[in-house]
Amino acid sequence: MSKLILSTRNRHKIREISAIMAEAGAPVELIGLDNYPGAPEVEENGATLEDNALLKAHAGVNCSGLPSAADDTGLFVDALNGAPGIRAARYAGEDATYEANNRKLLAALAGVPAERRTARFVCVVSYVAPGVAPLSFCGELAGRIIESPRGRDGFGYDPIFVPNGSNRTLAEMSAAEKNRISHRNLAFRQLAVFLRKVARSSG
Ligand code: IMP
Repeated sequence: MSKLILSTRNRHKIREISAIMAEAGAPVELIGLDNYPGAPEVEENGATLEDNALLKAHAGVNCSGLPSAADDTGLFVDALNGAPGIRAARYAGEDATYEANNRKLLAALAGVPAERRTARFVCVVSYVAPGVAPLSFCGELAGRIIESPRGRDGFGYDPIFVPNGSNRTLAEMSAAEKNRISHRNLAFRQLAVFLRKVARSSG
């Protein structure tokens, strides 16, 4: 089993993505940045999700010398010309809470009818390894923003996002149910397929 740095200190993310990679048969052991106390805090100031994912993945390689992956997610709401977009975490200001971000989004959409509340999560996963050209994979989850929060599970915009094909919010789904359809899952599964191929070809 080769080691792969997941360039984050978020333990919840490491657990969730380890499960996705194991289920997809990727022959890697994920290691978080907590194991590298000298790893720098990366400022996510890129112009795109891919820029930010690459910044974080490069930082992982730089502090460990090991292949590294990192993800970055945005929420793109059609009626708001794509806002909050790549600033999803900071929509209501630096260090904004999930609740504050949700309140701001619902206020921005006040009066917009259901059929025009379409939105999608986009997740980009970048993979950087010493001596190899960087690669990125993209996963999307399309749905709509409802008018008031529902459900207690999940995080972020989950209580106000209903995926297409469902009438429940992501926060009303179990973690397993959400993970099966999530933008992050779709992106990391593509990385898993790639890593399986690499492992096969290196024998
Ligand atoms: P990150 O790039 O994974 O840190 O995600 C940036 C922001 O997007 C988070 O702070 C959340 O507000 C939002 N977000 C990302 N993934 C999800 C999700 O699966 N559900 C709800 N919100 C999410």
